[in-house]
Amino acid sequence: MIFDVAARSLASKQVLIPVSRLLGDCTGSRMPDVVAGLLTYDTASSAVAACPTSALRLEQHRGIRQLTLDYAECTGCGLCIAACSGAFRPATKNVPCGVSRSALIRHWDVDRGHQIYADESIAESAADEIHALFGRALNIRQVDAGSCNGCESEISALTNPYYDLERFGVHFVASPKHADMLLVTGPVTHNMANALRNTYEATPSPKLVVAVGTCGCTGGIFEGSYAVVGAVDAVIPVDAFIPGCPPTPAMLLTGILQALRTPDRKS
Ligand code: SF4
Ligand code: SF4
Repeated sequence: MIFDVAARSLASKQVLIPVSRLLGDCTGSRMPDVVAGLLTYDTASSAVAACPTSALRLEQHRGIRQLTLDYAECTGCGLCIAACSGAFRPATKNVPCGVSRSALIRHWDVDRGHQIYADESIAESAADEIHALFGRALNIRQVDAGSCNGCESEISALTNPYYDLERFGVHFVASPKHADMLLVTGPVTHNMANALRNTYEATPSPKLVVAVGTCGCTGGIFEGSYAVVGAVDAVIPVDAFIPGCPPTPAMLLTGILQALRTPDRKS
């Protein structure tokens, strides 16, 4: 029987997603995108009323009525999409990943129906560019600081044959002493705060810290719990943030690359 499986495996077509299709793709993340042309004050109000987190807000700024979407707070529950389908739809591109905390926030003018600030777009790239960015290897130490393990499932998927992160020279290592980057998930629990600080201290400089998931970015649904300190940047300095609950493997890859592209953010 094992030979049948091996024969089928060898005969099947190779399925490896080209990197150009992965970068910037957030299909399946359940994060919302706003169709600016269909946005009105009423649809924006319905979406804000439906949102169970503080991800969506309606604000008045310099006489302009603005819809603000903070991707760091978004759990991808989809309620805004259900409340006003058309103006809100599941995002397939352009959710910011691997950027600063402030770059995760977007604004739309609800009366004129356009986005106020330009997208911080993630340009499509190729394997060559990734190799150019960090040479032959990037070593990542993943730290679970209190996650539900949803983010870990997606991080593990990065190493499967479908995404095959190792083809870019990216490796997960067991010790922070061998790491160039810390990939930190979860709201940081009180029990893990010291361990996270020690891990940060043990990682040689220069190093990058990337906070992963809604919990890593803001504390997520656990924010305010007696058991958690909060977001990762409440405990150690963070260079870049990847939103999502959980982020998809493509978002993780995009975020890691985007964090590397901004060397001035290195700790
Ligand atoms: S998906 Fe859910 S959490 Fe995110 S903005 Fe929409 S309603 Fe808010
Ligand atoms: S962001 Fe979502 S999937 Fe990740 S640890 Fe928090 S609750 Fe779990």
